[in-house]
Amino acid sequence: MKNDCIFCAIVAGEIPSFKVYEDDFVLAYLDINPFTKGHVLVIPKTHSTGLLDTDDDALAAVVMRVKKVAAHMKASLPCDGFNILQNNGEAAGQTVKHLHFHIIPRYAGEPLAFESHKGDMSELAALANRLRM
Ligand code: AMP
Ligand code: ZN
Repeated sequence: MKNDCIFCAIVAGEIPSFKVYEDDFVLAYLDINPFTKGHVLVIPKTHSTGLLDTDDDALAAVVMRVKKVAAHMKASLPCDGFNILQNNGEAAGQTVKHLHFHIIPRYAGEPLAFESHKGDMSELAALANRLRM
């Protein structure tokens, strides 16, 4: 696996993902351990570990796609709101050392928990089909 990085392996197609959006710069796919239904990760195709070692232009490109994907998720899940989460360093809970933005959909009346749950593969596949842009 290139760099020993699981997200680079997803970009390279070496590991499958529940893809939602892709262009020349980014890939967006469902988190397999979602906090809530429809939890998506947006990553740059070029490897950097976090916010601080990402080139400004690359970062701007990713954030623009985060907005685009979040708008699509809000309308088509649909959800009532969403959190953007981006962890830097183990102390902050970062487990995968490839820059990623979490888009965590929120549904009115549900508890505002930041806790992952093992995803059901068939449910994830159905959600990815619904969300694919
Ligand atoms: P973080 O704690 O910000 O580093 O989050 C990494 C996220 O990546 C976690 O929420 C994991 O559930 C998620 N994750 C790890 N491996 C995969 C994978 N193969 N496909 C989708 N999401 C993954
Ligand atoms: Zn990587």
